[in-house]
Amino acid sequence: MKVVKFGGTSVANSMSLLNVIDIVKESNDRKILIVSALGGITNLLDEMSTQASKGERNYKDKLQILENQHLDLIEFFIPVTRQSEIISFLKSQINELEEVLESLFTLNELTSKSLAKILSFGEILSSTIIYNVLKHKECDIELKDSRQIIFMKTVNDREVVDHNKSEKKTKAFLNENNSKNILVPGFIAQDEDGNTTTLGRGGSDFTASLLANYSNADQLEIWTDVSGMYTAHPKLVSQAIPISNLSYHEAMELSHFGAKVIYPPTLQPLIDKNIPVIIKNTFDKKAKGTLINADGSSIQDGSTVKGISHIEDVALISLEGSGMIGIPGFSKRFFECLSNKQINIIMITQASSEHSICIGVRSKDSAIAKKTIDDNFAFEISVQKVNPAKIELDMTNIAVVGDRMKDHQGISGKLFSSLGANNINIRAIAQGASERNISIVINKRNTQKALNSIHESFFERQIKELNLFITGVGNVGGKLLDQIDGQKSYLLENLRLKINVVAISNSSKMLLSDISLDLKKWKKQLNSSNINANREAFFNHTKTLNLRNSIFIDNTANHEIAEEYGLYLANNIGVVTCNKIACASSYKNYKELKKISRRYNTPFLFETNVGAGLPVIDTLNNLIASGDEIIKIQAILSGSLNYIFNNFNSKTSFRNVVQSAQDQGYTEPDPKIDLSGVDVARKILILARESGFELELKDIINKSFLPKDVLKTSSNEEFYNAISKKESYFQKILKNATKNGRRLKYVAQLEKGKASVGLQEIESHHDFYNLEGSDNIILFYTTRYRDQPLIVKGAGAGADVTAGGIFGDIIRIGKQ
Ligand code: ADP
Ligand code: ASP
Ligand code: MG
Repeated sequence: MKVVKFGGTSVANSMSLLNVIDIVKESNDRKILIVSALGGITNLLDEMSTQASKGERNYKDKLQILENQHLDLIEFFIPVTRQSEIISFLKSQINELEEVLESLFTLNELTSKSLAKILSFGEILSSTIIYNVLKHKECDIELKDSRQIIFMKTVNDREVVDHNKSEKKTKAFLNENNSKNILVPGFIAQDEDGNTTTLGRGGSDFTASLLANYSNADQLEIWTDVSGMYTAHPKLVSQAIPISNLSYHEAMELSHFGAKVIYPPTLQPLIDKNIPVIIKNTFDKKAKGTLINADGSSIQDGSTVKGISHIEDVALISLEGSGMIGIPGFSKRFFECLSNKQINIIMITQASSEHSICIGVRSKDSAIAKKTIDDNFAFEISVQKVNPAKIELDMTNIAVVGDRMKDHQGISGKLFSSLGANNINIRAIAQGASERNISIVINKRNTQKALNSIHESFFERQIKELNLFITGVGNVGGKLLDQIDGQKSYLLENLRLKINVVAISNSSKMLLSDISLDLKKWKKQLNSSNINANREAFFNHTKTLNLRNSIFIDNTANHEIAEEYGLYLANNIGVVTCNKIACASSYKNYKELKKISRRYNTPFLFETNVGAGLPVIDTLNNLIASGDEIIKIQAILSGSLNYIFNNFNSKTSFRNVVQSAQDQGYTEPDPKIDLSGVDVARKILILARESGFELELKDIINKSFLPKDVLKTSSNEEFYNAISKKESYFQKILKNATKNGRRLKYVAQLEKGKASVGLQEIESHHDFYNLEGSDNIILFYTTRYRDQPLIVKGAGAGADVTAGGIFGDIIRIGKQ
């Protein structure tokens, strides 16, 4: 004998019912079939009851929806000539249901009895219709109303299954009956007074396990809409996978802590008779599913943790006070008063000081729980020995489950550090004495992020996802997107890094997605986007999505964007930027950003602030971290100025050379920032700060070679006109240098905490003399590199190399 249960989603409509018919007909075993109400119907009935009892007339609209959903099945499967009997059954049931709802409407009340009566219509209708369909498909089948075989009784004010009576009646029925298939509605039962009652929401699973127990079935099959019990809720964790084998206890813990695929009380009757359960997918019959049995031994992909489950809408209640210390009976009174109100406690923690006790309950129970606690401890509260119960709403309980967890160390460490790394605060922790379960409570808004982080650290060790929010997609940003697109598969294959670009903004428009954008289409999509660029909305989108490993990328040279880094960092969103403004702003701001980055454990990387893609800051940081000391830094840090002075000669005009540097993307959008020396000053300032010196931009000695008239200009056009007029002046500077066999180089220097920038004539033996094109060179003189400096040299400007440097920072975060 086999017991086979089909959930609501498996019987929701004619298409899904086609699968069910196949499954039933394929097996030759004798079977008890249990069906739930059609998908969505129990919720509909529940809503109608509430509306009617509140005096809201529109509950009637739902009656029509309910009738149609059932009628569709009849019309699809049963020929017109044979429909009349079943249609008149449907109509009579709808009429009866309407009458009950009408009485609720008149009385304005909803008792648990009338609710059970109303909810029972779902299973009564589904089982009768499915029975008729299967019969029409020539199945050897009989319909048995579960209210004649499953009975409830009241013990300590609670309704529980009367196993003796139920088992006797079930056995008697099975002995009398010899049909190959017996169809039974799930969920409903008969109470002590002969009225209809239910086994609780999701209770069809329980009906099935009770009947499996009473009939000594060889196996219980639960057919649903997913391929088994997953490592985490599959709708929230896209990387979750079905668990091939679970022990009863593991399955019990997972379902108790929220894995809805199986109703928690289901397992006990199966444990009693050692009956294995298999969870299968009605829509993918070939999928292996999850086998639940006593052994459950196979280890999920080498992991001791089998699964993660969660319950949203949890409230934390804490009772605190000095009056609790060392006084016996406090906890007893605390739990007893909650139990008297039938409040289910999800988790308990108590500090060893006994100064406080904290529990998790369902949010809907929290108000009653607080009232009953405060009433019961009214005396202690009045003499200030304890404080009134404190309630925190909008919490989520997450449980990490596995039988073998008790034999392994480091599981909680891993759990906590994965949450810590994603800046998710843990409000309460509990570990069951069986060590089969570690539970934590966190703020509900972090649920998905937490589940994915925990899932990643226990099950996906291989792949790490980075979520990028990119602002500035011109020269540099555009190249960056191309590079990411080109490297995607390499990174996945070799570094196990998956890069998602989730949102993009330029100065006029934004693309705000919540999944990875298609990088082949971003330009078109951005152009046709109807969302105007807005920094606040961009930040809010990033924050609200609350994805793990979120990184804000700034490819602009914009002041206002640079002012927002602190906000991103403090919200656990990493920042990678080629924009130098933040790091070259006031020392206080620079320090503050570093501090926030440390405090929230959020990366802040700006390698491209100096030398574009060259490893300058990284090299400097490594020198300092390994105990070296900077004596002097001498450098050519402007790719654009180097390009300009390398190409400027007596036959070219200074203006045209500057223009060509800008055309090739070597200068800042405003070329005066380069030529005035401000850009180089910012770079040496950043190197000085990274070397540990507390300097401001005004402290950098900047002897500009530009004449005053040029410095005064306020637009690119004025600037170009002004340098055109000074051609002879620039030619003179050049002539002076070349006549002495020297070359013009724009040099930055840091020595003994003092920094300067300026145009210099470089002699032919110097390392700087032969620096080509737009290259940069940085000489680090340190305690270790005292005589021969450590030299970093190479292309120091250009969109491609800058984008490459930003990409490098992103990968660095991925490797952390
Ligand atoms: P049925 O109608 O078949 O009884 P349920 O809706 O009660 O189906 O349960 C199946 C659903 O449980 C799945 O669609 C899935 O969204 C949800 N679920 C939650 N946690 C898990 C989990 N860990 N594994 C599988 N499904 C889960
Ligand atoms: N139909 C009931 C419910 O939705 C029972 C079940 O589906 O298991 O709760
Ligand atoms: Mg269910």
